[in-house]
Amino acid sequence: MKIERLKKSHKTMAFYITNFNYHQPYQVLVDATFCQAALKNKVQINDQLKKYLQSELKLLTTYCCILEAESLGASLSGATQIVKKFAVHKCGHEGKPVPASECIYSMVKSSKYIISTQDRDLQEKLRRLAGQAIIYLHKATPVLEQPSKASKKFVNRIKMRSLLSKQTEQKIKVFKEIEGINKELNVTKIMNKKKKPRGPNPLSCKKKTIKKTGPSRPSRKKKKK
Ligand SMILES: [Zn+2]
Repeated sequence: MKIERLKKSHKTMAFYITNFNYHQPYQVLVDATFCQAALKNKVQINDQLKKYLQSELKLLTTYCCILEAESLGASLSGATQIVKKFAVHKCGHEGKPVPASECIYSMVKSSKYIISTQDRDLQEKLRRLAGQAIIYLHKATPVLEQPSKASKKFVNRIKMRSLLSKQTEQKIKVFKEIEGINKELNVTKIMNKKKKPRGPNPLSCKKKTIKKTGPSRPSRKKKKK
């Protein structure tokens, strides 16, 4: 397996681990279409995917996937044998089976699975879900799809939100600092005012009566008694 391919798959899984809580050992949900392609191209699913994803894996399928493969008869008997070897996860359709694609689509909502399928319609539906990892076989080569537009959009939105909240926090901090500085300034202003010697209160200053400089009037003579 080429190193470049491994680097690429590692990077893609790192994206899912960081943003969508995938963790090792990865749970790989496999349907019969994938088993059929593996059989045709002589791919040992467990070995190949383990090497490709560089991790221990839990290969799983569902009751509905097995039933659908069985119902398709002899043409899929090889794939049916393979899919039956995997652990069966409860899908909630026990006794009331649904088409495999419908079953898998309902499973991804409850847990983090890497979906291994060759079903193009199902792949298309899964791409619309943010954070859904998909693997398919290109001839004998497993391909972990690059994160879909929906996944990237979701992650960008989260990043933007966290950036905005950081910016808001920063702004609040700045405002608080300014408020703090203003308060400090007000306190020092008050303190300075108190320290200043008080001048005369202009209101309490009566206008001085100006003495006339002319000859003083002779004081009135006391009336003779
Ligand atoms: Zn089911």
